[in-house]
Amino acid sequence: MKENIRVRYAPSPTGDPHIGNIRTAIFNWLFARNQKGTFIVRIEDTDQKRTVTGATDTILRALEWLEIEWDEGPGIGGPYAPYIQSERVDSYRNAAQILLDEGKAYYCTCSPERLQKIRLEQQTLRLPPKYDRHCRDLNTSKPVYPTEAVIRFKMPLEGTIVFTDTIRGDVKFDAGVLDDFVILKSDGYPTYHLASTVDDHTMAISHVMRAEEWLPSAPKHQLLYQALNYQMPKFVHLPIILGTDKSKLSKRHGATSIMDFQKMGYLPSAMLNFMALLGWSLDDKTDIISKTSLIENFSIDRIGASPAIFDRDKLNWLNGIYIRQLDPKSFANQALPFLSDESKGFESAYVQKVIPLVQERVKFLSEISEATSFFFQDTLDYADGNLTQKDLDLTISRDLLQQSMSTLEKTNPFLHETIEENLRNLAKRLELKPGQLFGLIRVALTASKATPPLFTTIETLGLDRCVQRLQQAINNLGTILPPPK
Ligand code: GLU
Repeated sequence: MKENIRVRYAPSPTGDPHIGNIRTAIFNWLFARNQKGTFIVRIEDTDQKRTVTGATDTILRALEWLEIEWDEGPGIGGPYAPYIQSERVDSYRNAAQILLDEGKAYYCTCSPERLQKIRLEQQTLRLPPKYDRHCRDLNTSKPVYPTEAVIRFKMPLEGTIVFTDTIRGDVKFDAGVLDDFVILKSDGYPTYHLASTVDDHTMAISHVMRAEEWLPSAPKHQLLYQALNYQMPKFVHLPIILGTDKSKLSKRHGATSIMDFQKMGYLPSAMLNFMALLGWSLDDKTDIISKTSLIENFSIDRIGASPAIFDRDKLNWLNGIYIRQLDPKSFANQALPFLSDESKGFESAYVQKVIPLVQERVKFLSEISEATSFFFQDTLDYADGNLTQKDLDLTISRDLLQQSMSTLEKTNPFLHETIEENLRNLAKRLELKPGQLFGLIRVALTASKATPPLFTTIETLGLDRCVQRLQQAINNLGTILPPPK
């Protein structure tokens, strides 16, 4: 019989979701969809001190933006509701009680001061920090609350724990270095170790696919599963994500929250494609993979163990490709919110003509503001010397702009083909290289050297705007002093 695939994405609402965190969501979701299984979202908010108001909402909005729909979880419920851990605290307390009753866990009443003292001593002796198991054999019965007491899990004192990771195979841990970790805190809330183990079992999770950062905790979880007589799901630790400098992806590498990428105008389809490749591959050459193909082809055996590299240049390249694939109408709709404020005073017909000109040129939508800004400025700012072209002195430049203006005034219809023909004829008549003349006109009309194709730009600006800008450039050239002879 085919295994019933149930996977979960279990974020802690401690801030905006990080790229690595969303990559976990994507891998779980792709696996569920590929296997016709169930994708569950569970909110792990038992660390009350770190919980940030509104963060759950942001996480869910991020999933919606990427069109990662969940089958069970917040907002929709499901057979194992509630899917928010702070609403399931009794089940963790019950599990802790079972472990206490069976002598597999114990109350620890050590004060924070005592724990701090041990930590300092260990630091001085250069030993790894570890609880000294002072309360392990005291058999303390239930302390009276409020108290600092926590419940700790009894780990084996020696031996080797062999944990099997689906990607890495057997990973060995020396029991001697593992701590009697806390499973229930003094505030009555469970730690991640206990809560996730209880929930993964209760919610019949078949595969725990989570970040590699959790691998060191895996032996603890394995022993908890055994102590509670739960059957272990399969564990898949997803490779760590590094920046291109091979250090762990962090703020130093620029944006790391998925919301930042949304704000910068990356397309969800491109982000999905890019993040699916952070640790998984279709083969060793394909980079552009549609959502349908990702779902069709995703498999655990093509997830690697070596670190995934978050390469922003690759993301920009990929996003540019997805932008160019958009149909013009969809591009226009998505581009509109990214135009500069200056564009607001312009007629919609003009704005709608400007937008398509940059579809080929931007890598992400927030570049649109700058790429189109010259279309929406009343007065251009010619940076120093920008108007002065190599091999053209100031008087000649002024004259050329004057003649270009007359040529445009006579151009009818005012379309890029006729504009091009007339300006080429002008260059020929003046025995100039076309590039020389066009370069000057481009700067005069846009105050920029990189713009959409010149003749389409001229057509879009329209005759009146062109005349006004050419005049402005001529005046501006009049104020530049010729270089000393
Ligand atoms: N709440 C944990 C986190 O956000 C989940 C880890 C897991 O997937 O088990 O890192």
